[in-house]
Amino acid sequence: MNRLDPELLQRSFVKLTATFPKRLTSLYISLRTGHAPLNKYLHRIGKIESPQCPQCQRTEETVHHFLLSCPFYQRERRILTNALGRKTSSISFLLTDPNATPHLVRYINASDRLKTTFSEVPLPRKPPD
Ligand SMILES: [Zn+2]
Repeated sequence: MNRLDPELLQRSFVKLTATFPKRLTSLYISLRTGHAPLNKYLHRIGKIESPQCPQCQRTEETVHHFLLSCPFYQRERRILTNALGRKTSSISFLLTDPNATPHLVRYINASDRLKTTFSEVPLPRKPPD
């Protein structure tokens, strides 16, 4: 990665990820830059034939589709919504608010979709007392 999104360099991201294990930080960077190993991106970089979502096959598999709208993950998303309320529909809330992090990690692990790349994603460490 030689062209970092300037937003990534912001203090808030550094602060958010201060207690993140490395693998969780990588996951967040990939989701925030749209470079998560989902079909839309994998297609763009020539790794696969089709950008379509492999689960519902209705649309391109973007980060937004994976997190917020794919019907295949409805059950996991309901758990996320029960925990976080209406704000669950905001990608920026999910990816920037520390309160959302453990729930988002649980969603991603439960979806099994990113396991090949990230295996079981670890939760943030407890901040030092
Ligand atoms: Zn889908």
